[in-house]
Amino acid sequence: MPTSLINIGYLVAAVLFILGLKGLTHPRTAVRGNLMGAVGMLIAVLLTLTDRQIVSYQWILLGFVIGAAVGAVLAIKIQMTAMPELVALFNGFGGAASALVAGAALIEKTYGGGIPLLQLTIATAASGLIGAVTFWGSLVAFGKLQGLISENAILFPGQQALNALLGAACLALAILVVLDPSQTTLYWVLVGVASILGVLLVIPIGGADMPVVVALLNSYSGLAAAATGFVLSNNVLIITGSLVGASGIILTQIMCKAMNRSLTNVLFGVMAPAGEGSATADEVYAGKVKSATPEEVALLFDAARRVVIVPGYGMAVSQAQHPVASLAALLESRGITVEYAIHPVAGRMPGHMNVLLAEADVPYEALKDMDEINPTMDQVDVALVIGANDVVNPLARTDPSSPIAGMPIIDVDKAKTVVIIKRSLSPGFAGIPNPLFAMDNALMLFGDGKKMVLDIIAALKET
Ligand code: NDP
Repeated sequence: MPTSLINIGYLVAAVLFILGLKGLTHPRTAVRGNLMGAVGMLIAVLLTLTDRQIVSYQWILLGFVIGAAVGAVLAIKIQMTAMPELVALFNGFGGAASALVAGAALIEKTYGGGIPLLQLTIATAASGLIGAVTFWGSLVAFGKLQGLISENAILFPGQQALNALLGAACLALAILVVLDPSQTTLYWVLVGVASILGVLLVIPIGGADMPVVVALLNSYSGLAAAATGFVLSNNVLIITGSLVGASGIILTQIMCKAMNRSLTNVLFGVMAPAGEGSATADEVYAGKVKSATPEEVALLFDAARRVVIVPGYGMAVSQAQHPVASLAALLESRGITVEYAIHPVAGRMPGHMNVLLAEADVPYEALKDMDEINPTMDQVDVALVIGANDVVNPLARTDPSSPIAGMPIIDVDKAKTVVIIKRSLSPGFAGIPNPLFAMDNALMLFGDGKKMVLDIIAALKET
């Protein structure tokens, strides 16, 4: 096929990727967006197969069958809550593929004394370095999320210095590859050193920060792919890689902002401990916490006109999304307005709550973000917090020394009554007490999220 036609096809694929990304920004258009991206990828793959000097279609077919089978099984079987692990693996494979393809291209171009263009060697070195860091970093992220490696930050003396040394070694090796591409072994040494760097960069990061790291590695995998695009002079790979690189870094930025942490803090520091002057759990809670029964909560709902449900990590753990949707439907059938307040970092991955509630068929219109719901929170009769803690902790507004100081929160404390479902007074991700639980208008409903919601439903049906 003529190159111009191929490039027009690639352009169509790139447009589909961009429209697909746009579609993914809203739950209503997300499925269509995903489909557009997939069609774009199909076009890109088919065109590449007609464009390149294919040595053997059999090998490609074999790889295609194995890859499609593994991908399909993983996508069908994976639990929604295990999505970050799957994305981590996909990123890693992307990084590895980029490094391997760039290495193969280098061997091909230098075979028999050939001298590749400077553009190609620079891109090859970049692809090997970033691809290897991405692959190994993603495997560590996967291991941490899956519980195969310790979730805790793994720290040892001189870690930062060693990382700096390895980083410098990678740069030096990359320069050597560019200066003398015929020494292909140097490329694989670069890949080896970058692999060690990838592992060491991710092990000091705690398990709960992994979603941010996965988003960042996603960005890296895009950069590695874009570099490989330059190696192969493949326009669509350059465009896709750049899109992935840019969207990954934007997502990383959004997550850091919503957690009120800088990227450097996520990458190099564990979460700041509570400040010196901060109150202990005993000081915050002693004698002030009131608990309620599901029957009492049902009575509160019976008298309410507007209810806001605030889900958090505990809803995901207890898989309470279906009972939560049933409770909302029951309340609505009694003329009560029900909305959901969604915090951008509730749970443990971006969009965690949206995904779970969508699974339970909660209409998108009922999901309100923080800025939308907070101004009217004082008109809410009952705010029902299910397994959320940090995202409703008023310390973020009042204690400048708190690790979550400045993090925007959902102002449930301003509702007439706030009911909090959780199993104990244990802290959430940030590890700090929550004065909300001791407020005059707060009632604790201690127990597993799913069980408590089912108990409230049962009690409501009896009233
Ligand atoms: P938190 O981690 O603050 O609190 C979750 C609460 O859920 C715990 O206090 C726990 O209390 C409760 N819980 C656990 N299991 C159950 C259960 N079976 N039934 C009922 N409750 C349960 O969660 P939030 O969603 O409020 O906040 C998310 C935190 O995670 C933020 O600090 C955010 O910065 C961080 N984070 C978010 C990411 C994201 O992308 N969304 C990524 C990385 C970090 P108890 O044990 O008493 O039941």
